Amino acid sequence: MKPSILIVEDEEKIARVLEIELEYEDYEVSKAMSGTEGLEAFQNGDFDLVLLDIMLPGLSGIEVLRRIRSHDEHIPVILLTAKGSVEDKVSGLDLGATDYVTKPFQIEELLARIRAALRLHSKVQKSSMTGTEEPNQNQEVWLSAGDLKINEKTREVLRAEDGIELTPREFDLLVYLLRNQRQVLNREQILEAVWGYDYMGDTNVVDVYIRYLRKKIDHGRSPLIHTVRGVGYVLRTET
Ligand code: CA
Repeated sequence: MKPSILIVEDEEKIARVLEIELEYEDYEVSKAMSGTEGLEAFQNGDFDLVLLDIMLPGLSGIEVLRRIRSHDEHIPVILLTAKGSVEDKVSGLDLGATDYVTKPFQIEELLARIRAALRLHSKVQKSSMTGTEEPNQNQEVWLSAGDLKINEKTREVLRAEDGIELTPREFDLLVYLLRNQRQVLNREQILEAVWGYDYMGDTNVVDVYIRYLRKKIDHGRSPLIHTVRGVGYVLRTET
């Protein structure tokens, strides 16, 4: 669909030139010759951008802008300002104008600003549609071996779809075993990975926690945690 632009400009010649140029660039164009007419057109139409002259009879461009913004915070509005009217530019930008172009302007410059404003606007719309969420945030992160599944984000643990409660340390130990499944891990490796380098305890703590885990994970089911005598432990499905 063509982007549609509303031109609010009382100088007929300028409005006509803008209309021809914008139609040539494949925009849908509507014209209004006064502030009141412009506001009415805006309220009854569905525009993607407004080109708004500031010096207008009746309702000034600044007033039109203020009223547009009270209805629509996002639609791009580019002000057409007279050379040197710094005050108008400042109050226009304060009121939420997207950009301004000083008369007399080069049509190429105006077209570039229109394209930039429309691009920015479509980005804003897209990001407000998807919210601020990362695209992968809801992607589920499950580790599994056989019918054992654990979700690292939600810390859910399932064995054959039965939920299992683990303490934080048991959970960390199970994650480590699962991440390294089918590899035989010695007690020092496990201790270092799960309890940290500085842990001063005895490697027996590993045996104790493996026992806890087995009770919760493997009890009454086909075992996943296996002892490799003289070496350590391995998590694997029986084949
Ligand atoms: Ca004017």
